[in-house]
Amino acid sequence: MAMMINRDECTGCGDCEPVCPNGSITRRRGLYVIDPESCTECEESGDEPQCLLVCPVDDCILPLEE
Ligand code: SF4
Ligand code: SF4
Repeated sequence: MAMMINRDECTGCGDCEPVCPNGSITRRRGLYVIDPESCTECEESGDEPQCLLVCPVDDCILPLEE
């Protein structure tokens, strides 16, 4: 399971990048992307997705639909 960033909503503020415990969030062409291979939805620590907690934009970070 992984989260994804909706490119239509992301402002490129960068708030999400430093809070990811797995280093899964990187900047690309002015916006940010989540690597679905390393994103664990923060399940290992029993936490809610940390990126979701800090993102200031509603509906910007969503579950990746497989
Ligand atoms: S859900 Fe957790 S592991 Fe996945 S990108 Fe967000 S902060 Fe990183
Ligand atoms: S916190 Fe939200 S709006 Fe800001 S860069 Fe990350 S996904 Fe985009």
